[in-house]
Amino acid sequence: MNDDHSRELYDRALSVLPGGVNSAVRAAIEPYPFFVRKGDGGHIIDADGNRYVDWVMGLGPLLLGHDLPESVRAGIQQKASEGPMYGAPAEVEVDLAEFVVRHVPSVEKIRFVNSGTEATTSAVRLARGYTGRNKIVVMQGGYHGAQESTLVEGDHENPKPSSAGIPSSFAEHTLPVPFNDEDAVREVFEEHGDDIAAVLTEPILGNHGIVHPEDGYHEFLREITDDHGALLIFDEVITGFRVGGLGCAQSEFGITPDLTTFGKIVGGGFPVGAIGGRAEIVEQFAPSGPVFQAGTFSGHPVTMAAGLETLQFAAENDVYDHVNELGDRLRSGLEDVVADQAPSYTVAGTDSMFKVIFTREGTGVPANAADVKNAETDRWRRIFWGQMRDRDVFLSQNQFECQFVSYAHTDEDVEATLEAYKEAL
Ligand code: PMP
Repeated sequence: MNDDHSRELYDRALSVLPGGVNSAVRAAIEPYPFFVRKGDGGHIIDADGNRYVDWVMGLGPLLLGHDLPESVRAGIQQKASEGPMYGAPAEVEVDLAEFVVRHVPSVEKIRFVNSGTEATTSAVRLARGYTGRNKIVVMQGGYHGAQESTLVEGDHENPKPSSAGIPSSFAEHTLPVPFNDEDAVREVFEEHGDDIAAVLTEPILGNHGIVHPEDGYHEFLREITDDHGALLIFDEVITGFRVGGLGCAQSEFGITPDLTTFGKIVGGGFPVGAIGGRAEIVEQFAPSGPVFQAGTFSGHPVTMAAGLETLQFAAENDVYDHVNELGDRLRSGLEDVVADQAPSYTVAGTDSMFKVIFTREGTGVPANAADVKNAETDRWRRIFWGQMRDRDVFLSQNQFECQFVSYAHTDEDVEATLEAYKEAL
């Protein structure tokens, strides 16, 4: 494979960008990341002209793939050409808010921000402001962006910052528990119940697995938070408008969280985040309430248009049928490959999310981060940065992040990918 251009670009990047990249995970590709020239439907073309089936899809935002339908492209171009942003409200912000409120029953009001990180940061501040409490419960192996309150590791008895640069006193207010472990949640509520502002969880762990909730787990979280006057926050940055279609994962699970954080798809491929939920809570954001929240770029007209046109296109076309059907075919094909060639591995995912986890724990389905932690990451690296890339398949940059099907993917992409997995494994 020719990669001279990517290597040159990486050399240049290393002298001006820390680690040569603008987001930590991107450098994980070995021996250096390929630089992207452009997207093409369900494919991506690198700086040297190599073409890959792309299951990363921007790490989740590109529900429609790289080729945008005419309505989406026109909406984006029009807003970009009318002066990209104003520092004053615009109609398209209201249009997208109304769309989300119409389709996600738990969302009565919504505030748009610029990233998933900003959404979870603001949601945690809102939960603390609304309840007057300090602590938040999070799931080990969950990810909520690069923010101080959730970059925490360890357990609820000994939480520690997981990054340099975060005072350990911040971590004191974050209580990590294993996913799917009801007793651990009961324990933290017994100990800290009066000071827990919220339980914050992804409905499906998409950054460490994929790990699915066991039956009844979300119902249990809903009940225990209600009993203690704490909020339940679903982080649907990945699952929002992907799992469960336009109703999001919460509709699939039949759960009504108090707050939901969004990102990725709701911005149609442009920088976005959002915090939605019960009006009474979301109204606590400034200027209607005392919880400060603001942003120069928030509700950016180009992003709002891209999000609105993307979701409208999904509402009017067979987008979810297509991506979910291909997702099913990929997962069942991978089950066969794994059963045949790597019976100690697990195929996980639902709807248009999928992942082969290089381990099989307990009952065969990882229940939490500890189960996934034993995955054979070295073998994964060898296989994926050697073998799958050589077979023109681009997968997520590490063993733990999930992969995504888009509307632009085809049966042939699925077949080629299954064949590549078969050979590689
Ligand atoms: N929450 C979840 C569940 C995520 O997966 C991510 C990023 N993948 C974030 C929050 C942070 O979003 P962003 O990278 O847009 O800041």
